[in-house]
Order: sequence, then C-alpha cells, then structure tokens
Amino acid sequence: MKEQIYTIPVNEAYDKDYECPLCELEKQQEYEAVKYALGAAMMEPDFRMESNEKGYCNRHFSQMFDAKNKLPLALVLDTHLLELRKKIEKLEKAAKSLENEKGGLFKKNSGEKVITEISETLGKTEKTCMVCEKVNHTMERYIDVLLYMWVNDENFREKFARSRGVCLKHFRELAETAPKSIKGDAGKFIGMLINKEISELKRIQDDIHKFTLKFDYRNRDMELGEAINAPVRTIEKISGYITPYEDDEQS
Ligand SMILES: [Zn+2]
Ligand SMILES: [Zn+2]
Repeated sequence: MKEQIYTIPVNEAYDKDYECPLCELEKQQEYEAVKYALGAAMMEPDFRMESNEKGYCNRHFSQMFDAKNKLPLALVLDTHLLELRKKIEKLEKAAKSLENEKGGLFKKNSGEKVITEISETLGKTEKTCMVCEKVNHTMERYIDVLLYMWVNDENFREKFARSRGVCLKHFRELAETAPKSIKGDAGKFIGMLINKEISELKRIQDDIHKFTLKFDYRNRDMELGEAINAPVRTIEKISGYITPYEDDEQS
C-alpha cells in the first residue's frame, strides 16, 4: 500500500465538494511551504543557500509579503539580492566595453554575447522558486497516489466518480502521469477522466451562464441556487484556485 502520509490527505480532499480536490491539496502545500520559508527554514543553512540562489516567483514573494512579520522576509531578500547582484556585476566589464564601442554600431559578436548572458542568468532565476519546487514535488506524489487508489481502492473510485472533476491543469497532469504511474490501467482511467471533465465543464458552463442571466431585470426573481458563486468556481475550474485581492472599489 502507498504511504499513508499521501493517501490520507487525498482521501480527505475527496470527502469534500471542491471544484478541484487537487487544487485544495496544492493550496495546503503552498501555505505550508510559504510558512516554512519564513519560519523553520531560516535556521537551515542548506535551505538558505538554495533560496539565495533560486529565489521565489512573484506569486510566492507576494504571499510572503502578506505575512505580518517582515523580518524573516527581509533577511531572505537581503541575502538573495546579494546573490543576484553578484551575477549582474559579472557583466560590468562587458558593459564598459560596450559603452566604449565606436561608430554607433551595435557590434554583433560582443553585444550578442552579453545579451545571451543576461537572458541565461535572469531567465534561470525567473523560472526557479523554492516554494513552487516544494509544492510541485509533493503534488507529484499526490497525483501518483490518487492514480494508485483509483486502480486499487473501490471506495476511492466511487468517491472520484461522485466528485466535481478537477481543474484543467490537474486534468492535464493526471492524464500525463497515468501512463507512467498505472501503466496498463492508464487507458481506462484517461477515458473516464475525459468523459468526467466534459460533463463537469458543461455543469460549470450552465452555472456561469445562469449567473449572467440574473442581471437581466426580467430574471430578477430567478433563484440562482448553486450558480450564485459561479464566477469563482468557473475560474477555479479553468485555472486553479485564486488568491483574493482587496477591492477598494465601492460596489
Ligand atoms: Zn486543480
Ligand atoms: Zn513560486
């Protein structure tokens, strides 16, 4: 049997009525990873070294910024910026020679080399995030366990059938992982998953459409029922869970 530290959370997520149970697991993982980055990780020299090098994506820097205590974040930023500056400062010599180039012509050889260096250095940093890495790693385990349970655990298979499907990203990830993870059962699983997704997307469409109709004065007495929160559920279905932002516009 697969490790319980993964099977229990997956089962629990499927006990609730989420638009995407995998997103719910991802949200929990993300929360824990951000908390760790600003907490226990501060005392882990290895983690600090790696985070100085890799940094965080904009989404996770934003979440870290939302934490009340700004000191751990400032410490992370201070040492990460130091690493980034070292990389940029390596270009100093090249910058001088570019500045001094005569004739107003951009010299292909020397110029392009610098641009490649800038692209490579910054492109790499933009793509790496300590929180994303940690979350992705655990999510791979969860997806693997989900597939395993779908094949081997009849109770779970029934839960999956009753669920609201998954978001499009997790739909893709489940389909991509199935052949490696459950091999011979992959075809059956993917076929079921596609059909499930088609009917769940139709349900979402019916709800969001009903929501728009409510704005017509002729429908003002129409009961919205479940469609009352269709906008948020539609976004969750299309692109995963959202992080609310403070809207100061009066409505
Ligand atoms: Zn999802
Ligand atoms: Zn990230």
